[in-house]
Amino acid sequence: MKETKSTCPYCGVGCGVIIRSEGEQIVGVRGDPEHPANFGRLCTKGSTLHLTASAEVTRQTRLLQPMRREHRGEAPRRVDWDGALDFAADAFAQVIAEHGPDSVGFYISGQLLTEDYYVFNKLAKGLIGTNNVDTNSRLCMSSAVAGYKKTLGADAPPNCYDDVNHAGCIFIVGSNTAFAHPILFRRIEEAKARNPQMKIIFCDPRRTDTAELADLYLPLQPGTDVMLFHGLLHIMLWEGWTNTDYIAAHTSGFDALKSLVREYTPEKVSQACGISKDDLFTAAKWFATSPATLSLYCQGLNQSSSGTAKNAALINLHLATGQIGRAGAGPFSLTGQPNAMGGREVGGLANLLSAHRDLANPGHRAEVAALWGVPSVPEQPGLTAVEMFQAAADGQLKALWIACTNPAQSMPDQATVRRALERAELVVVQEAFATTATCDYADLLLPASTWGEKEGTVTNSERRISRVRQAVPRPGGARHDWEIVVDFARRLETRLRRAPTLFPYTTPESIWLEHRETTRGRDLDITGLSYALLEQAPQQWPFPEGASSGKARLYEDGVFPTPDGKARFADVAYVPLAEPRESRYPFSLTTGRLRDQWHGMSRTGTLGRLFGHVPEPAVQMHPQDMARRSLQEGDLVHVTSKRGSIVLPAQASNEVGLSQAFIAMHWGAEFLGGVSSTGEPLAGVNALTTSAYCPGSKQPELKHAAVKILKA
Ligand code: SF4
Repeated sequence: MKETKSTCPYCGVGCGVIIRSEGEQIVGVRGDPEHPANFGRLCTKGSTLHLTASAEVTRQTRLLQPMRREHRGEAPRRVDWDGALDFAADAFAQVIAEHGPDSVGFYISGQLLTEDYYVFNKLAKGLIGTNNVDTNSRLCMSSAVAGYKKTLGADAPPNCYDDVNHAGCIFIVGSNTAFAHPILFRRIEEAKARNPQMKIIFCDPRRTDTAELADLYLPLQPGTDVMLFHGLLHIMLWEGWTNTDYIAAHTSGFDALKSLVREYTPEKVSQACGISKDDLFTAAKWFATSPATLSLYCQGLNQSSSGTAKNAALINLHLATGQIGRAGAGPFSLTGQPNAMGGREVGGLANLLSAHRDLANPGHRAEVAALWGVPSVPEQPGLTAVEMFQAAADGQLKALWIACTNPAQSMPDQATVRRALERAELVVVQEAFATTATCDYADLLLPASTWGEKEGTVTNSERRISRVRQAVPRPGGARHDWEIVVDFARRLETRLRRAPTLFPYTTPESIWLEHRETTRGRDLDITGLSYALLEQAPQQWPFPEGASSGKARLYEDGVFPTPDGKARFADVAYVPLAEPRESRYPFSLTTGRLRDQWHGMSRTGTLGRLFGHVPEPAVQMHPQDMARRSLQEGDLVHVTSKRGSIVLPAQASNEVGLSQAFIAMHWGAEFLGGVSSTGEPLAGVNALTTSAYCPGSKQPELKHAAVKILKA
C-alpha cells in the first residue's frame, strides 16, 4: 500500500487528496488533513475519485492507444505513437504552408496542469506564430479576468478562503456555492455557526440550496446584475454609506460613476430586478456598514453577454465602501475548474501572454519573445473559444487540436460547433476518455494520462499552487499531455526547419522552472518557489525570491497595479440580456451544475452512486407555469430555442421563478438527444444556448437563453 499526496481534479476549491494505491491500482482516496483548502475534507465527488479510476472503469472508458480515422464516418484504427505524431506534424506543416499560421487553432482546458498549458501556449505563439490558442476557461472565468483588470489593474483575486472567517457580511451572487464549491460552502456554514451575527446575502435567479444559509435572499431577474449593483451604490450614496476617505486616497473615476448611478433609483431597480425596495435597502446597508464584506461570485456573473460589466460593477461596490484589502473584505471570484487560474498565469488564452502579460502590449510581446528566444510573438489577437469554432464552421480555420475538453457537448450553440468539427480539414483530439462526444469527430485520437497518473501543478481560486502527483503508471499507451505536445512540437520544428528546439524539456519540473522565470518581477512572481517547497506545502502567489511565504491577501497597502497606483471605478452601463424572453420564447432558461456531477460526466458519469442525488435530466419549472400549461410532474416537454430543441421531463420546482426554467449542464447525448433548428441531431442543453458573448471578455452567455416549453 502506498500513499501519494495530490490535488482533486474537479473544482477550483483545489482540495488536497491522499491517494492510496496498491501496485498499479488506485484503491482509495481521502482528504489531505494538511492541505489549507480543505483540511482533510472532501465532497461527494472528491471522495469517490478512486472509484472513477478502477480497472473496470478504465477498461470501459479510457482511450488507451493512438487511433486514426482514415475517412470521416469510419471507425478509427489503432496506430503507433510515431505514426500518429508524424501524421499530425505533416498535416499541420502542410496547412500552415498553404494557409498560414492563423489557419490552425488549439482549444485546450482548465483541467490541464500548468505545465501542459505552458507548452501548448509556447507551441502556438512561440513556434507556429499564431495566437489561436484558447480554452474552455473562456467559458468559465474570462469575465472575472476582464473585470479585475478593468478595475484593480491585474488579474488577481485579492482574497483567501480564510476570509470567510473574518467577514461580517458575505455577499454570494451568481454562485450556487453549496453545489459548485461544496467544501468552501462547509467553511461558510461553520463561520456562520461560530458567528451568527454574520450576515449572508444570497442573490441569484434560482433559490438554490445556497439560499438555505442566507439571512437575505435577493431573487434577481436574469441578467439584471449591473442594474442591481448600480442600484445598491445609489442607495449607499444617498444614505452616506460610502467610504469617502478610501475613495479619495485609493481610487480614480468616482465622479463619472456617481453621475451614472444617479438614474438607478430604488424604484427603477426594484422593478427591473424583481427585488423589493426594502430588501435593496437592507442589502446596501449590510454590505456597506459591515466591519468586513466579502463577495463570492462565479458563473452567474461570468457567463454573460455583459460579464465584464457585471464583475466591474460589483468591484465598484467594494471600492466605494472601502471593503477591500482587509481580512474578510474584498471581491473574490471563484473559479469553476481546477486550474483555470494556472492557464491564466501562463497566458494560455488568445489575448494573454505568459505571466499576466498582455498581447496588445508591444513591450510585453518583446519580453516574452526574449524569454522564449524567438524573434517575435505575433501581434494579431487570436481567436477566442466561440470565434474559433465559428471560424472553423466558416472554413477559415483548417486544423483544430482539442485537448482535455469536450466542445461537442460543452460549447454553446451546438449546431455551429458540430458544423465546425465537420468542416475542419483536420481534428486532433488529445483526451483521456474515449467516451466524449468530441472523439466522434476526431481524425486523430491521442490518449492522455489523467488524475492519479500525472505530475505537475495547479492553482486554485485563492491563488494557491498545489502539486499534482502520480500515484500509478499510465494505462495502456497513454502519454502525459506535456509529453505529447513536446513530441509533436519537435517534429513540427523539423518540418518548419526551426532549430535549436524551443522544447528541451524532459520533466514537468523543467517546464515549470521556465514558467517560474517568466513571472520574475510580475504581479504573480513565484521566483521564490520550487517543486521542493511545494512538496512540503501548497503556497499562494506572489512568492518572490527571498520571501518566506506567499500573500494571503492583496492590496492591504491600498496600492493597486495601475499606472497611478489607484484602483479605477468602472462607469459601465446596464445592458439587457442578449436574448430576452419574448412572446414566442416566453421562458428564461438558465443552466448550472448539480452537486454530484462534473462537466460532461466523462468521469462522474461512470459511477452509479453519483446518480443517487439526481438520477435523470429534467427541466425545472415553477409549479404555476406547469399548471397554466396543464403539465403534470414527469410529462415530456419540448424545450425549444431559436437554435435547437430537446425533449425531457418537466419537474415542478420552487427554486425557479415564474417564467424561468432550469436544466443542468451535465447531460449529454447518452441521456438527452435533441435536434437543431434545421433538424440535425444534437445533444444536451447546449443545443439551446446562445453563443452571444461579452464584448470585453468574449465569454458566452451560457446562463441565459429564451425558450418555449410545449408538451411533447
Ligand atoms: Fe474536489 Fe471541489 Fe469537492 Fe474539493 S470541493 S473535493 S476540489 S470537487
